[in-house]
Amino acid sequence: MDKQIEIKNGTVMPMIPTRDLVVFPGMSVNFDVGREMSVQSLQNARNDFSGDVFLCAQKDVNVESPEKSDMYKVGTVANIRQVIKSPGGVCRCMVRGVRKAKLVDMIVHDDCYEAVIKPMPNYSKDKLYAHELDAVEREVRKAFEEYSQLMPKMPQEIYNAVMGSKSAEDLFEAVAFNVPLAFNDRQSLLESPSAGEKLVLLMTILAREIDVLSLERDIHEQVQNQIEDNQREYYIREQIKALQNELGEGSLDGSDEGEIQRYYEKITEMQASDEIKEKLNEEVKRLSRMAGSSAEAVVIRGYLDTVLGLPWGVYTKDTTDIKKAQNVLDKDHYGLKRVKERILENLAVRQLTPDIKGQIICLVGPPGVGKTSVAKSVARALDKKFVRVSLGGVRDESDIRGHRKTYIGAMPGRIINGMKIAGSSNPVMLLDEIDKMSNDFRGDPSAAMLEVLDSEQNNAFRDHYLEVPYDLSDVLFITTANTLDTVAGPLRDRMEIIELSSYTREEKFNIAKKHLLKKQLEKHGLTSSMMRITNDGLYMLIDGYTREAGVRTLERNIGSLCRKAAKEIIEKDVSKVTFSAKNIPDYLGHIKFLDDDADKEDRVGYVNGMAWTSVGGVLLPLEVLVMDGKGALELTGSLGDVMKESARIAVSYCRSIADEYGIQKDFHEKKDLHIHAPEGAVPKDGPSAGVTMITALVSALSGIKVRGDLAMTGEITLTGRVLPIGGLREKTMAAYKAGMKTVVVPEKNRGDLDEVEDIVKENVEFVFAKTIDDVLRAALVKPPQAEVMPEMMPEVLPVKRRGRARKTV
Ligand code: ADP
Repeated sequence: MDKQIEIKNGTVMPMIPTRDLVVFPGMSVNFDVGREMSVQSLQNARNDFSGDVFLCAQKDVNVESPEKSDMYKVGTVANIRQVIKSPGGVCRCMVRGVRKAKLVDMIVHDDCYEAVIKPMPNYSKDKLYAHELDAVEREVRKAFEEYSQLMPKMPQEIYNAVMGSKSAEDLFEAVAFNVPLAFNDRQSLLESPSAGEKLVLLMTILAREIDVLSLERDIHEQVQNQIEDNQREYYIREQIKALQNELGEGSLDGSDEGEIQRYYEKITEMQASDEIKEKLNEEVKRLSRMAGSSAEAVVIRGYLDTVLGLPWGVYTKDTTDIKKAQNVLDKDHYGLKRVKERILENLAVRQLTPDIKGQIICLVGPPGVGKTSVAKSVARALDKKFVRVSLGGVRDESDIRGHRKTYIGAMPGRIINGMKIAGSSNPVMLLDEIDKMSNDFRGDPSAAMLEVLDSEQNNAFRDHYLEVPYDLSDVLFITTANTLDTVAGPLRDRMEIIELSSYTREEKFNIAKKHLLKKQLEKHGLTSSMMRITNDGLYMLIDGYTREAGVRTLERNIGSLCRKAAKEIIEKDVSKVTFSAKNIPDYLGHIKFLDDDADKEDRVGYVNGMAWTSVGGVLLPLEVLVMDGKGALELTGSLGDVMKESARIAVSYCRSIADEYGIQKDFHEKKDLHIHAPEGAVPKDGPSAGVTMITALVSALSGIKVRGDLAMTGEITLTGRVLPIGGLREKTMAAYKAGMKTVVVPEKNRGDLDEVEDIVKENVEFVFAKTIDDVLRAALVKPPQAEVMPEMMPEVLPVKRRGRARKTV
């Protein structure tokens, strides 16, 4: 095979058309021969031509059966060194280029190719001068150097071969044989005649390659930078996670896999609709994509914990036994017969018509009369969970409905928060102090409250924070209020009002004896054998140390006595402490409220009004001072707007009756008036001080004294008619306690007389007034100058025990 045939002009030899392959003389190449005709040519070459074959590239690699016109004009005679046949008929062969030759003709046989060739010099003589060639060589080396820097995988041997090449031919071969050049560039290089020309061509090819490569590198770097930026954050986060795991904080901060999984599990387990679950799953998905400690992740985690912490379809089993409920209510509370009855009625209706959720109970009454504890008992009686939601100070819709979770520090509203505390879907929820809700520019909370209490709507209550609807329809709502005056109308209509009035002395005594004492003893770790309060001691606590409608302060005072007893038992080693009227002041200090502390002297411009405040009924004196001036009207003592209006009505009315009472006609121009309600810290409002205001003014302007043992209440019209008032029972009780002998009340309140305590009716004279004249006639010590007609005398309730004789002049 080593023996080569002589190649002459017109030699015919086997030919293989090559695709994508150009072989330079002197270069060894491996390639596969696949086409059948080419394999036969290869065979023929090995058999008949000592392994010599003509390799010529076809212009278009896609042509399957090429002809002469498809071929380049110049090819290479190569010597086949090795052939390995692989099973598919493909021959892998190794050849070495020998000689450049021109394709004169191409003979396409049935089974093989032959070429008629004309040999060409591998390198024709150079036309360049030696120094020009030198320069070209240098340029090529330089270009190669640059090129090899852009091709970091360039082997050192090739680099050395190029740099160390001794001749232009050497240099060309070192580069052309080793650098992966494009196929048509290689063909051009093969075709160009001399070494010098080949190098010049090579230089331009390298220059272009360098351009392309550096452009590629720039693009690559840009892309790389971008990827790195993204990856950098990822890596840092991964590192933080790893560090947190090291510190054992992994589960606290950093959304680890386990946490995400736990959320998914909880969502699957919860008993909620698919939409709600879907929404929560989305949030978990968002969380899983986030850095564990980012602010947003903290928000989402808080949100998920809140929503999943709510009771979803978690029910406690209710008792349906009304008898049992009654027992519990009776056991927990003394008295309150009507209240208990109405609550039981309400519960019975609920049981009979479970679908109609029934009316919302609203317990109305002064503080300390047991509203909260009755509601608690209801929960206990029905075996329901109990939760108290205070509405005092709620002035904004978002207090009820929460803030959207996008706000910093957002939370659900009080209702949803209450549900979370209750932990069941059917608790008793006490909405405390519904009358203390106010509204401002941020939205009306009572509108939101309406939705909570409306059984038509509350099965899909929307809290801003929660974003998903929540079912409140199985909650038993009980509301409380001190007064209904400030409760919005629509809200009031939705509730069944149950009134708890203030307790009498006897009731307080019984409550203390049967409940409060027991409760406080237990709370302080004492037993009834260790401490006792005598009956007169209890009465002293009620009369001397408390002034209240309920029993809160009384309970507190009993608590203090318990603590004193405990201290005594420990310190002085006694086995029992007894408190009585005699020694209670030693323990609790001086008596705070004397029974008869009202100043009952008859005075000018000083009138005892009766008011109904949050602590029950109180005596509310009003003072008027007249000074020379210009008709200014000053009001002090925390008087509300309605009181101020009453004052204006009073002034106008006094002008109209000036003659009758000997009042200076132009007082409204020549006198300044100052109206004051003592105990200025207590805010006072309401129309029921109308009569008091006029009486005080008339007295001050006329100089006629007002009875000190008389108290009055009633709203007034501009023409002097007296209108009815509320809280008759509490007001008259206060007057009785203060030692008043007579009370003047509106005629129209006569129907409420049933409510008034018997003890009050027995000891106090009631005057029913239709007009202000009736009031003045009863109150002023000296009757008006005008003759009083007998039929105009106000009707007086017969009293069993009259106070002192009425002073008449
Ligand atoms: P409110 O909610 O009306 O302000 P609370 O329910 O807080 O009043 O009552 C204050 C205290 O008085 C509680 O300890 C309560 O148990 C007790 N109490 C009130 N009324 C009664 C009653 N009729 N029987 C027994 N305890 C009572």
